[in-house]
Amino acid sequence: MQLIALSLALAVTFAIALTQASAQGPTSGVERLYVLNCGEGVAGDISRWSPGVNVGKSMDFADNCYLIKHAQGWMLWDTGVTDAIAAMPEGQRPADPRATHWRRPKTLASQLEQLGVKPADIKYVAVSHTHPDHIGNVELFPQATLLVQKAEYEWPNPLGVGRFKPEHPATKLSGDHDVFGDGSVTILSTPGHTPGHQSLLMRLPKTGAVLLSGDAVHFKDNWDNRRVPEQNTDKAQTVASLQRLADIMAKENAQLWINHDKAQRDSLKMSPEFYE
Ligand SMILES: [Zn+2]
Repeated sequence: MQLIALSLALAVTFAIALTQASAQGPTSGVERLYVLNCGEGVAGDISRWSPGVNVGKSMDFADNCYLIKHAQGWMLWDTGVTDAIAAMPEGQRPADPRATHWRRPKTLASQLEQLGVKPADIKYVAVSHTHPDHIGNVELFPQATLLVQKAEYEWPNPLGVGRFKPEHPATKLSGDHDVFGDGSVTILSTPGHTPGHQSLLMRLPKTGAVLLSGDAVHFKDNWDNRRVPEQNTDKAQTVASLQRLADIMAKENAQLWINHDKAQRDSLKMSPEFYE
């Protein structure tokens, strides 16, 4: 009798475990990660990003967006320079010649269209920070929920207006955020470049952990030497954020994808190819 009761209890436990597993299956995990071309540019004087080093030298920059197909819906990380630049034959020349002259070889809209993804399909748009080369196309997605740090959202704009349209739905974050509640996509607070800068940790089933830098660092040589660009809002915060990223890379055995590093970008699979 006791044996029968035990077998029954085991059978019930097993059935519950199976139900939980199948309930978790279709709603958790990253299914695909696409890297989109969201701008290409030439930095006029790279020492703006590496004070005292390579003064007066120019450098090629990439600008990526990352499209995540999660079991619960689509998420876009960064939106690049505005699609309007694609129609400018000379690209967009910066007011300060030391800054970046941007071109747009492809629009974000056309790359989504190629994948059969409509702007209305995007559930979340998260931006690393609010510089124009990252928020250029936020308003292509008026219905998507913005995931942005409160400190960034409320950072006073030099023009005295908000950084986002007040009617745009937004979740204002205070620190890290597990986007889908399953640990597969986590926003990390990494302030310093701007007051509410953030990075992104993804755990992919085949590729493993990938860490998206945002502009916590702009290119590998600055990462290797822990250099802080002159326009960053807080040097000590920047250094602490770089250390935090290094610690997470070690713990997660994560690859670091540096958004503006063109040499690294050239080694990545670009959309419509994808990572799993
Ligand atoms: Zn940038």
